[in-house]
Amino acid sequence: MPRLIFVLVASVALLAQTPAPAMQHGKPTREGAEYIAAVATTSTAKVIAEIRDHQQAVSNLQYLCDEIGPRLTGSARLVTAHEWMEGRMKSYGLVNVHREAYDFGPSWTRGVETARIINHNGLNLQVAQMAWSPATHGPLKGEVVLLGGKTLEEMLGLIGHLKGKIVLMGSFPKSEGDPKGRREKMMKLFGAIRTEGIAAFLMGSEKEGGFLTMTGSPKGGRFLPNVPAAFMNREHVNILKRLLEKHGSLELELNLGGVASEKPVQAYNSIGEIPGSERPEEVVILGAHLDSWDLGTGATDNGTGSVAVVEALRAIQAAGVKPKRTIRVVLFSGEEQGIFGSKAYVKAHKDELKNIQAVLIDDLGTGKVRGFAMEGREDLRPFMAEAIAPLNEMGVRELPLEASEDSDHAPFVEEGIPAFFSIQDNEDYFTATHHSQADTFEHVKPEALVEGATAMAVTSLGLADMGPRLPHKMVEMVEKQAPVSH
Ligand SMILES: [Zn+2]
Repeated sequence: MPRLIFVLVASVALLAQTPAPAMQHGKPTREGAEYIAAVATTSTAKVIAEIRDHQQAVSNLQYLCDEIGPRLTGSARLVTAHEWMEGRMKSYGLVNVHREAYDFGPSWTRGVETARIINHNGLNLQVAQMAWSPATHGPLKGEVVLLGGKTLEEMLGLIGHLKGKIVLMGSFPKSEGDPKGRREKMMKLFGAIRTEGIAAFLMGSEKEGGFLTMTGSPKGGRFLPNVPAAFMNREHVNILKRLLEKHGSLELELNLGGVASEKPVQAYNSIGEIPGSERPEEVVILGAHLDSWDLGTGATDNGTGSVAVVEALRAIQAAGVKPKRTIRVVLFSGEEQGIFGSKAYVKAHKDELKNIQAVLIDDLGTGKVRGFAMEGREDLRPFMAEAIAPLNEMGVRELPLEASEDSDHAPFVEEGIPAFFSIQDNEDYFTATHHSQADTFEHVKPEALVEGATAMAVTSLGLADMGPRLPHKMVEMVEKQAPVSH
């Protein structure tokens, strides 16, 4: 998914909600001062102890990753994962456990994927077919044209000379000129790549050290769905570049066997909850996406988030704590192809959106949880400061205003719903495991996973038991930096 960072411009259009009331307990939050509460309420302490002493998150994650495996949206394995997670939820005593379907598009199955240099050194190259791109239908041979290491003007000069070629996108052109003109030129270049009859499209992995990456979507968009496409090990791309520079020509043989299903399929969100004891119609949602890419087993993206939110509810239930509002887990799917599951949830539950107290999304890998991104809602800081106060000592104390649109909180934010994205230490997420073949169980930090589950449990309980409703409000954002591909 592209990651866009936004800054708040202005808050607009206050929806019909009660105004933000003053804090009802604990110290009031002074502006600019850090709020540290001396509160571990009895129920909070019970939940923290339950997770510390009896957590099942780590063994659940191992089963999800090693036994069930990769969970590409639309695949049978993801359906198995939904069934298994729903079974866990039922065994923990959660109620209203069910699955909601939505129309996804064709499924896609990875097949053979090989590449080798035909002339020169004959090296076998490491490639991974971009999901939902078409197969080559057997080995395809072609001359390589390098796009990259050039200015945008030089790249545009190649239009008309790409037919039948294997186009290698070595790197994106340097940012120069006005952004609008640049965007138009890039559209022209990609338009040519789509329509000029190129044989295949290769992109270097964004990671070094042999780590591959993956993306793609049945909806296509910027993902060039009509051309066989693959990501290549970055070091192998460098070899191709050097050979092209020295010899001027290079031929590859490429075989990509991944195919889409003929018919569209449905995808699912799994749901389970603990009903509120006083205001059951009002809901705090804990969300994570259960789908993954298929080069690894989706341990850090997003097995960790999925088992953490379920563990949070397991612990609240096992500790005998009765939240005043309903706390609901939603395990989304289709996140990796364009946050389809959470969009479908918001659409299907349109009439109930007004009853959502808050949404907490866990989708940032295996690092230690530091807090929650406020998604531009400065006005909600006192509520969130209060909710995370019992976690401050654990190091959960950051509430930056930052916003992003690349995970399942985004469709809720767009409806003015208070929705927050958990912030975690990066560890080796974006340099190694994210979308790569190394997204496997041994890269998970168990202690951080347990802390993450604790953070989700305590924060959701705080928001569920809080006196006031969190106000719904639309915020207007502007793009702060150009999209970077993660
Ligand atoms: Zn993710």
